[in-house]
Amino acid sequence: MKFASRLVSFDPAPGDRYRPVATPIYQTATFEQECADEFGEYDYSRSGNPTRTVLEKHLATLENGTRGFCFSSGMAAIGSVTRLLRSGDEILADSDLYGGTCRLFTKVLERTGITARYADARDLHNFESKITRRTKLIYVESPTNPLLRVLDLRRIAALAQAHQALLCVDNSTMSPYLQNPLDLGADIVLHSATKFLGGHHDLTAGAVVVRDEGLGEQFGFVQNAEGTALGPFDCFLLLRGLKTLKLRIDCQQKNADAVAKFLSEHSAVQQIYFPGLPGSPDNELQRSQARGSGSVLSFTTGSVEASKAIAKAANLFRITVSFGSVNSSISLPGNMSHASVPPEVAAQRDLPKDLVRLSVGIEDEADLIEDLNQALRKAEFGLAVPILLEQCGELDVVTARAGR
Ligand code: PLP
Repeated sequence: MKFASRLVSFDPAPGDRYRPVATPIYQTATFEQECADEFGEYDYSRSGNPTRTVLEKHLATLENGTRGFCFSSGMAAIGSVTRLLRSGDEILADSDLYGGTCRLFTKVLERTGITARYADARDLHNFESKITRRTKLIYVESPTNPLLRVLDLRRIAALAQAHQALLCVDNSTMSPYLQNPLDLGADIVLHSATKFLGGHHDLTAGAVVVRDEGLGEQFGFVQNAEGTALGPFDCFLLLRGLKTLKLRIDCQQKNADAVAKFLSEHSAVQQIYFPGLPGSPDNELQRSQARGSGSVLSFTTGSVEASKAIAKAANLFRITVSFGSVNSSISLPGNMSHASVPPEVAAQRDLPKDLVRLSVGIEDEADLIEDLNQALRKAEFGLAVPILLEQCGELDVVTARAGR
């Protein structure tokens, strides 16, 4: 079956004699047992819940894995991956990572004796040189967030295997519609399901999918032991959101391509970070391992003030953290989603302060471009006027007139 069919063709309620076409929300904490010394399929929702089982099996299938696990957030999913490690172990991560992931790796894990190192995984030779015999986990995103760098996942997987480390790929910017890291050699694929999988910014959720039975057992154990599983109602929302994943992403990608082209021709834009642009150095690699470039892109303007002014002036692109929703959004990662990067890690990263990140939604393409056009114009004008007036020696007069 093709992906569009697979998204909607699954048993929504195994064993249910009423045969509902949507998965019921089993909003229960506990399940009555036949007797006190033998448990049925479900006993307690932290350990397992029928709504969650449908979702987890569905996600495992979509990512071409064997076991799936859903968590209360992407961070809870990442936390569960780190539970595979012990004190003394090391994580080697790519240097362009979501800020919250860096915070967890650096600020939380260091208390447990696990060390995280960061290196640019595009330079595989240097990246490999950072692997030690303690490195047990290699952790990357591709395309990365927020610089949309494409990493060679096949080669990173080979490297992880050669050093007997697990490779976890955060696939949040792509979704299983566009990329399947397990097929490229990763051991664990992870999602902030808050993003494209849910698609409507009405829930926070996370997911992990694996192929290896042993790893599956470990994730099941940790999910139950820590009580981080996604609740039944949110599982229902996620199942519902998933059904339109292809439709949404097809539309969002088409819009993102148009937005990227528009930005690439605009004088206020300095550099665009988007593997979907035909001239992008990452375009070929992206096409070799994914079926599209998604709809998240970033650009610089050369001025933090201009970038802030663009975000403020945009209307359809609302200033919000996160990405992947049907609604377009705009953010300045340095001040928002990546402000949690610890300063010592931030110092090693080349994250431009004027970077603007867009997540392109399903609105009409012409409206999106018009919105950005007016926002860029306002920002250009807003910055140009004081400079011009200053050059003319009139700034004091105008400021005084405006009562500022
Ligand atoms: N991974 C990426 C790439 C993210 O951008 C985020 C959040 O923005 C996360 C993981 C964490 O997910 P959540 O916010 O669902 O906890």
